[in-house]
Amino acid sequence: MPVSSPTTPDLGVGLARFGFAEFRAGQREAIETLLRVGRLLLVAPTGGGKSLVYQLPAALLPGTSLVVSPLIALMNDQVRGLDAVGIPATFLASTVAAAELRRRFRAIARGDYRLVYVAPERLVLSGFRSLLRDLNCPLVAVDEAHCISDWGHDFRPEYLEIGSILGELPEARVLACTATATPLVRDEILARLGLAPDTPQLVRGFARPNLRLHVREGLRARERRDAADAMLERALGKPEAASGAAIVYAPTRRASEAEAARLEAAGWRAAPYHAGMVGPRRDAVQNAFLDRTLDVVVATNAFGMGIDRADVRAVIHLAPPGSLEAYYQEVGRAGRDGRDAFGLLLLPPEDAPRRRSLIQRDGDGGAVAPDIVAHKWELYLELLRWAQGGSCRHDAILRYFGDEAEALAGCGHCDVCDRLDAPEAADPAQVSELVRKGLSGIARVHRRFGLRAAVQLLRGQRDPRLERSGLDRTRTFGVLADHSEEWLLRLLQRCVVAGWVSFDGEERPVVLLTATGRAVMRGERPARIVLPEAVIARAPGARGSARSRPADGGSGDGEWGAAEQTLFDALRACRQEIARREGIPAYRAAHDRSLRDIAQLRPRTPEELELAWGMGPAKVAKFGPELLAVVARFASGSLDSPG
Ligand code: ADP
Ligand code: ZN
Repeated sequence: MPVSSPTTPDLGVGLARFGFAEFRAGQREAIETLLRVGRLLLVAPTGGGKSLVYQLPAALLPGTSLVVSPLIALMNDQVRGLDAVGIPATFLASTVAAAELRRRFRAIARGDYRLVYVAPERLVLSGFRSLLRDLNCPLVAVDEAHCISDWGHDFRPEYLEIGSILGELPEARVLACTATATPLVRDEILARLGLAPDTPQLVRGFARPNLRLHVREGLRARERRDAADAMLERALGKPEAASGAAIVYAPTRRASEAEAARLEAAGWRAAPYHAGMVGPRRDAVQNAFLDRTLDVVVATNAFGMGIDRADVRAVIHLAPPGSLEAYYQEVGRAGRDGRDAFGLLLLPPEDAPRRRSLIQRDGDGGAVAPDIVAHKWELYLELLRWAQGGSCRHDAILRYFGDEAEALAGCGHCDVCDRLDAPEAADPAQVSELVRKGLSGIARVHRRFGLRAAVQLLRGQRDPRLERSGLDRTRTFGVLADHSEEWLLRLLQRCVVAGWVSFDGEERPVVLLTATGRAVMRGERPARIVLPEAVIARAPGARGSARSRPADGGSGDGEWGAAEQTLFDALRACRQEIARREGIPAYRAAHDRSLRDIAQLRPRTPEELELAWGMGPAKVAKFGPELLAVVARFASGSLDSPG
């Protein structure tokens, strides 16, 4: 670890040198953390001002700082900008002629530059590696650091070299910058750069409080058209007198053509925009949109890049994109002028299977590696979870990105906040009481048991685990006895989405109450969520009657013997394998409760597997074959004994 400088340099003086009057949100904190800890992962949107976080320290620290960046086209501008403010800089890329490169190398060796930008392909060349040995390098900045992760689309194999380069510069501070905020990618950046998992991560600048986010699920095609039309009128006014613009995202080229034609017939100045259009027609649409002779552009998700206008008042998705991150980027095209703007996300029921086949097909029609499929599917499910979540949409997105500092405890104008404020909404005091009781159940089983045990506790049901730990004698036992098990599970699930409850543990995931959750439980923070609708209790035994009897040797309903335990252990081993392979927590693959059910049901077909708790069609499609294979091996007696 590099030693931090004894005195913190005056950052304000450094800032003035760049011609800026003040720091943007997060910049000062980022620079101070980098100088103090010597390590930082900085996540901020494109244009958020990440460059300053390495340029300013590079200007202050003696020696030559390195910046690895794949954006060769921008290097020249950056270098000229730095030169203009008296910070000598240069760049190394294959676009530079050999003689000039040699000259720059000599100058770098003499220590003439404060900053050197390096393109990834130079990292592997021996000339660059030998240069490192004599370099006094106080800081290495890795721009677009997500290029090191093969989860994204921008994977650059040369980025894998950076870890060993950092190894050769043990004294250097390290800053990794990216706009890609998904937690998985962030963890992979740290791992592949060889940075400790507890490296500070700063996520800033994602909040867009002027966006009014709305989601509509389960509408029929006709209702979806009506919802889109209503949103257009709400955001732009009447077609003849539209003020501002709208972008409609369509799932396919054909849908984009059809929707544009429909909107045009309704009087809007609308046009499609997708990769299947010939260049001149596409340019014409783009220019007309920028010139304000078009009000609505209907684009495909994959092709919205060129259409940018500050006065976009609504972004409507006829179907969701592949991830919450992609959604936020697309809806973020609305309201760039800072004024109010709308996002409407429609979730057609048939979207999930469409997305699944899209993920599996891949762009070239080739087979996609199973781990990539699993990962992309998980990203899509995160989006669906957000769409169904019962807490403020704005805050839930920021929480997903890890940008907690900018959460608002309710934005006050998304559809969820609207519902919470509506007169017919449940009495807030009553909601608070329910939520706090629910969270007190979580607190009791905190890091000991799973979500199910918390529900058993709240309902006051007999459970050996609760009895053994004396929890059946606490005041929490049975405080929500008048609610169904399923409803309580959904309530607690919403607390998960709200960030109050989380999970830990690979083998046996346990629930935990987060710091925010504790504050909500104590009444120090508002318990703002939409309560799940009441569910019709399933008739007792209804599930049992639909179930086919397990193969021979099965013990009776609900009984748990040595055979069940053996199968259960084998199923857990299988789940562990799945979780490892897919890079997901074990409980995401299947809950213990699901595996327990499977061990008792011994399903032979995917249909039978769906009878197990928590095994919806998506899970069955994804993990069913492997789980069924374990059951089949068990039934045929060919299961290796565990252990
Ligand atoms: P990023 O690397 O995060 O995509 P940049 O570092 O290129 O973003 O910054 C985007 C723009 O913001 C640049 O034009 C930069 O000059 C400007 N900028 C950065 N910090 C400040 C600041 N503190 N005050 C004013 N402008 C700034
Ligand atoms: Zn809100």
